[in-house]
Amino acid sequence: MSAVEDTAARAEQLRERLGAVRGRVGAAARAAGRDPGELTLVVVTKHFPSRDVRELVGLGVTDVGENRDQEAAAKAADVAAQLGPAAPRWHFVGQLQTNKARSVARYAAAVHSVDRARLAGALDRAAQDAQRRLDVFLQVDLAPALGQDADPGRGGAVAADVPALAEAVAGADALRLAGLMAVAPRDVDPARAFAVLHELSLALRRDHPSATGLSAGMSGDLEQAVAAGATHLRVGSAVLGPRPAPR
Ligand SMILES: *Cc1c(COP(=O)(O)O)cnc(C)c1O
Repeated sequence: MSAVEDTAARAEQLRERLGAVRGRVGAAARAAGRDPGELTLVVVTKHFPSRDVRELVGLGVTDVGENRDQEAAAKAADVAAQLGPAAPRWHFVGQLQTNKARSVARYAAAVHSVDRARLAGALDRAAQDAQRRLDVFLQVDLAPALGQDADPGRGGAVAADVPALAEAVAGADALRLAGLMAVAPRDVDPARAFAVLHELSLALRRDHPSATGLSAGMSGDLEQAVAAGATHLRVGSAVLGPRPAPR
């Protein structure tokens, strides 16, 4: 295939897969009696090139997610140079080292993976310096609440630490407490996992009524997440295909 045919075939593939995911989201919303307009689809583009991001923007995608700063910073710069004001919002969804806060605050609109006060403090200072505001989701590790061992590979605060963390973020000038985020632990029914997350979200909202965001649901479990009240779906492979091996 020529490069031009390659590009056209990829564009067609993304269009079809994105359409299928939008169909799933719409059906899940209807089944749950929810308005699809209150759901944000964050397409996770990690390991895929910036030209895929540009294709997706052309298909109406407004929010994209990344999980590694180095890759995300380069891609965000690339896309901004090509699309200018049409560039999408960038959501940082991966585990984040404090020393990367400065970089992330330059391009991200939201960070979904804040799981410790030190990281919140670093993001606040970085966002202030960049004269930007960051939406922050507190990542919760649901495993202990489901009777499993904590999963340090995926990050997340234990539920008991959420109230103090929420206070830290709510009190930070350049951060806005958006809500909670979680990944369903392996080997657990995602519906059960997201039901726990929903309870935690209700508890958070008693003290922070505007923190109504719930970032949950990926390619394999977005239906269960929508049923449990998710507002932000982080979907990667169902749109982009199997991820190329990380380099
Ligand atoms: C990669 C990733 C996703 C997307 O996962 P898929 O199963 O490919 O949809 C969602 N959330 C986080 C935190 C991720 O790292």
